[in-house]
Amino acid sequence: MQPTQAASVSTLPDIAQVVVELPLETPLDYRIPFALRTSCHIGQRVLVPLGPRQVLGYIVHVAHTSSVDDLKDLIDILDETPLLTPALLQLTRWMASYYLCPWGQVLKAAVPEGFRVHTEAVYTVTAPAQEQGAAWPKGRAGEVLQCLVQHGTQSQHEIERLLAGQDCTAVLRRLQQQGLLQRQQQRLAPKTRPRMVSLVRLCLAANAATTLHQQVQQRSPNQAAVLALLQEQPVWELAALRQRLPGAAAAVKRLALLGAVELTTVEKRRAVIPAASTASAPLPTLNPAQQHALWQIESRLGTAESAPILLYGVTGSGKTEVYMRAIATVLRQGKTALVLVPEIALTDQLVDRFVARFASQIAVLHSGLSAGERFDEWRRLASGEARIAIGARSAVFAPVENLGLIVVDEEHDTSYKQEETPRYHARDVAIVRAQQAQAVVVLGSATPALETFHNARSGKYLSLSLPQRVEEKPLPSITILDQRAHATPNERIISTPLYQAIAACLARQEQCLILINRRGFAAYLQCRDCGAVPQCNHCSVSLTYHRRDRTIKCHYCDASAPMPALCPACSSPKLHPFGLGTQQVEEVLQALFPAARLARMDRDTTRGKASHQRILRTLGSGDIDILVGTQMIAKGHDYPNITLVGVVSADATLSIPDFRAPERLFQLLTQVAGRAGRGQAPGHVVIQTYRPDHYSLAFAQHHDFSGFFQDEIQRRQVMLYPPYTRLARLIVDSSETVRAEEASRWLGTVLQRHLGSPPQVALLGPAEAPLAKIKDRYRWHLLLKATSSRALHQCLQATLAESQQEREHVRAVRIHVDIDPVTFL
Ligand code: ADP
Ligand code: ZN
Ligand code: ZN
Repeated sequence: MQPTQAASVSTLPDIAQVVVELPLETPLDYRIPFALRTSCHIGQRVLVPLGPRQVLGYIVHVAHTSSVDDLKDLIDILDETPLLTPALLQLTRWMASYYLCPWGQVLKAAVPEGFRVHTEAVYTVTAPAQEQGAAWPKGRAGEVLQCLVQHGTQSQHEIERLLAGQDCTAVLRRLQQQGLLQRQQQRLAPKTRPRMVSLVRLCLAANAATTLHQQVQQRSPNQAAVLALLQEQPVWELAALRQRLPGAAAAVKRLALLGAVELTTVEKRRAVIPAASTASAPLPTLNPAQQHALWQIESRLGTAESAPILLYGVTGSGKTEVYMRAIATVLRQGKTALVLVPEIALTDQLVDRFVARFASQIAVLHSGLSAGERFDEWRRLASGEARIAIGARSAVFAPVENLGLIVVDEEHDTSYKQEETPRYHARDVAIVRAQQAQAVVVLGSATPALETFHNARSGKYLSLSLPQRVEEKPLPSITILDQRAHATPNERIISTPLYQAIAACLARQEQCLILINRRGFAAYLQCRDCGAVPQCNHCSVSLTYHRRDRTIKCHYCDASAPMPALCPACSSPKLHPFGLGTQQVEEVLQALFPAARLARMDRDTTRGKASHQRILRTLGSGDIDILVGTQMIAKGHDYPNITLVGVVSADATLSIPDFRAPERLFQLLTQVAGRAGRGQAPGHVVIQTYRPDHYSLAFAQHHDFSGFFQDEIQRRQVMLYPPYTRLARLIVDSSETVRAEEASRWLGTVLQRHLGSPPQVALLGPAEAPLAKIKDRYRWHLLLKATSSRALHQCLQATLAESQQEREHVRAVRIHVDIDPVTFL
C-alpha cells in the first residue's frame, strides 16, 4: 500500500478528488498543499473545508488537472496508511450507483464509527475587541468576552458551562457580527483511540538483578518486591504489577531511574473473541454429500471467474462444517475469508466453533461491540493479523485483502437488508464483492430465497446440496393443529395436544422451544363494543399492551402510556387485551407447568448488549426447560437436548401486506423446526394455526422446500414479482400530510413519463404506506416493477434528476429510494 518515492514532488498529482460524508452526488476537487503531496494517497481520510465547515472525506482519485478554477486546499490528511483499500472503494462506488445513493453515504456506512472525525465551532476574542477592552458591551455579551479572555478559545458548549448554563446562541451570533468574536472549526480529539498500556521490562541480567534485589531489600521492600516479580517474568503490564502490589508505580519509577527497568507504552487491542473455550474437538469425517460439496467449492477457489455457489442443505446437515473446511483451504492458499451471518445467529456457539478451529485468525464484527472493539477488530483485519472476518451485515465491508472466499450463511435472512440509507442487501453486495475480487461466494441456507433458488435452477449459480442431516439423524416430525377446534380461552393459547407434548418432553428431561409468531402483531387492546384498537398518535400502529406494568407502548417511537380505562373512541369500559404476547404465553405456561424452569426471549428481554447470548447460554447449559420467544429463538443455534418445538399462532404474519409473507412463514417454520432433534433423540414439532390449509404450512410440514418453491414461483410469475421482475420502492415522507401526498403524486406523474416505450416499468401507487406515520412523519410510497435492472435505473435516475431540478414540487419532503425492497410497510 505504501507508494514508491520515485516521482519528484513537482510531478506528483496536486489535485485530490474527495468524497465527503454528506449527501452530495459527486466527488469534490481540492488542491493538495505542497507539504502534503508526498504523503497523499487514494483511500486516505482527509479533512476538507466545505462552506464554513470542516468535514471528513475520503480521497478517491488524484489528478493533475481539475475543471474547477478556484480550488480550496485540503486541510489535513488523517491516515498514514490509507484506511480504504482500492477494493473497498470499487465496491462502495458500485453500491452508490446501484442503490442510487451518494457515495459518501455508502462510505459512512462502511467505515466503523470509531474512525469518524468530529469537529466543533470554537470562539476567540478578535484583536480589535482586545483593543477596545474597557468599552465592551455590558450584560451577557460582556460576560462572554470576559470569559473568553480569561479561558482562551472555547466552544459554545463550554462557554455556556462556564456561565452557569445560560443559552448564548444569540449573543455569540451578535458578537460575531460586530467583529468582536471569531468563529472557527476545530477538530475534536477522536473518541475512539488505540488502547495503550505501559509495559515494564527488566533490563538487568539475572545476577545483577539478584544483587540489586539484596541491596534494596532493607531500604525499599516495594522495589524489592517488583524486582522479584520481574525475575519470575521479565515483562509485566504496569497495571498488573499495581494489582499485585499497590506501591508498584512509585517503585517502578525509582527502578527506572536506576536503569534497572525500562517503561514502554504499547498498544493493547481490546479483546473481543473469547479464548477458545474447549480444546478443539477432532474433525468429524465428512459424509459423502459434504465431501462432494467441499470438493466443488475447493475446485473453484482461485479460478478467475466463478459463479456464486448455493449450498442448499437442510437444518443440521453440516453446512457450517463445510464452510470451515473451505476456509481452512483458503488460508492455506495464503488468502482471507469473510463469513456473514444474520445478526441474531451470531451466537457464542457459532463464534466458539470458529475460534476453536481458527483461534486468533478470527475477527468478529457486529453491532453488540463497543466502538473501541469494532475499531480494533477492523484494524486487526486491515493489518492482516486476523484473516477471517465473521460478522453481521456490515462485515461485508471488512478490510481484508487478497480475499479468497465469502460465505453468506442463512442467505435468505431479511436482516441482511439495511432499512436505512444506504439500503443495501449484504448478500447481493457480497456477490459483487466476490466478483470484483475474483473470490468464490457460497450462499448457504435450508430455505434459500426464491430468487436465489431460481438462479441456481436456471444455472446462473452453481447448486450444491446436503439433503440429509449428519449421521442420518431424522428431520423432526411435524403435526399441524387446527386452532379453530379449540374454543376455550386457555385452549386458545396452548391446546391440549401441545400441552401433552410439553408434559411428555419435560418428563423425559428434555428441552422445548415455544415460538410466538407475531411480528408487528403483538398483544393489543381492543374495545369489545366498537372494535377500536388504541393506536400510536405518532406512528399509526397498534400500541402493544404490556401486562406486567399495565402500560401501552409504541414499538416504533417508544412512546408509552398507562393502560386507559375507557375506549378512546366510544368511552366503553370494555377495553380488553387481545392477541398474544410472549409474556402472556409465558404466564400461561408457568401456570400449566409450575415446576418447569421458563425463560423468555423477545425484544423486551434482549435489550442489553449480551442478553440474547446470556439466555442461549443458559439454555445450552440445561438450566432452562422451556424457552418462549419470538422469531429470534428460531435461528442459528444447535442444542442437542431440544426435542420439542411448539408454534403458537403460526399464521399471524400472513396478514402483513407483503407478497413474500407466505415465503417468510415457510422459512420461519422450517428454521424453528430445525432446532428440534439435533441430538440423539428425535425431534417433534407442533404447529397451532387458524389456517391449517395454507400451503406454507402444508409444505413446511413435509419439509418440502422444492414443492414450496414450485408452487410459489408460479404465483410470482403470474403476479410479475421477483425473480421475474425487479422492484424499487420510493418512500416519500414529510411532517405535513398534504406535502407527502402531493409530492408523491407529482413523482408519480414524472415516473409515468419515464416508463419507456414500450413500457419496461410498471408503476403501482402512489398510496399511503401501511405504516402511514412514523415518528411524526407522514408516509406515502410508490412501487416500481421493471423487466430489468437497467430499465428500473433509467426510469429512477431520470425521475430523481427532475426532482432535483424542480425542487418546488418536493419541498419539505424526503424521498427514500429502496432498490430490491424487502419490506413494504
Ligand atoms: P448446519 O450448519 O447445516 O445447520 P452444522 O454444521 O451446524 O449444520 O452441523 C450440525 C452438527 O453436526 C454440529 O454439531 C456439527 O459439529 C456436526 N457435524 C457436522 N458434520 C458432521 C459429520 N460429517 N459427522 C458428524 N457430525 C458432524
Ligand atoms: Zn369503543
Ligand atoms: Zn409511535
